[in-house]
Amino acid sequence: MSKPNGAGAEASGLNGARAEASGQTDTAAETSGLLRFPDVVPDLDLVQRAVGIRADRTEHGRWVAAARELADTLPRLLRPRAVYRIDAVRTIEPAQLVLASGTTFHGDIAGILSDACYVASAVVTIGPALERLARRWIRGGEAVRGSLADAFASEAVEAAADRLQAHVRAWAQARGLDITPRYSPGYCGLDLHQQMPLFAGLPTERIRVRLQPSCLMLPLKSISCLIGIGPADRVHPDVVPCQLCDHPDCMQRRAEFRRQK
Ligand code: SF4
Repeated sequence: MSKPNGAGAEASGLNGARAEASGQTDTAAETSGLLRFPDVVPDLDLVQRAVGIRADRTEHGRWVAAARELADTLPRLLRPRAVYRIDAVRTIEPAQLVLASGTTFHGDIAGILSDACYVASAVVTIGPALERLARRWIRGGEAVRGSLADAFASEAVEAAADRLQAHVRAWAQARGLDITPRYSPGYCGLDLHQQMPLFAGLPTERIRVRLQPSCLMLPLKSISCLIGIGPADRVHPDVVPCQLCDHPDCMQRRAEFRRQK
């Protein structure tokens, strides 16, 4: 596949993100940097749903009020940030992806990334404060308040990852391209150990995210991901990976297999 010219000035201010130069000496990346998302707000309905609170049930009234109160106070504990880089694809085979930087990922990810001519790798976090508070409340016997804070943190990091994805999509669309959904180590076809090559290429110390020997991240409320970038008529962020997977017996399938032409 011919590669469109991906070189270009770093986009800043896209989707409310504040971008900084990466400070990396790696010249292989098409672009890279640190993004801050100061106005990330998790969806309160999703937070309530995650802990089983229903606004239409009168017996849940005091928990609905508690959720609203927390929604006013918890955002000040959020530090939503991301580091990312975009590399050209050197080769992609059924079980291996090699980027122009030499970074190699192993796993059955060709289904989702086969049309990618670039791949963005990223780590997003909201920082440790909120998960610590949630843990303290739960240990102290405030189970519902702690669970609400934990769900608030989970939704906040998803919202920050959505913003990172929008930033990458804007970079792609400026070049007539589009993106795949984000795909994380630990999903089908990309085992958790693929965190290692992903982290090796990113200055995650700048956002204070560490990889533990188990390959889980600290803070826990962090998301690592790959996003494919390719021709707009071949990739789209709303595709569900199960639509591209022909696993015959999967019990966790979330969408029907769509055979590609
Ligand atoms: S169908 Fe199953 S194996 Fe395939 S991507 Fe979906 S969950 Fe994973």
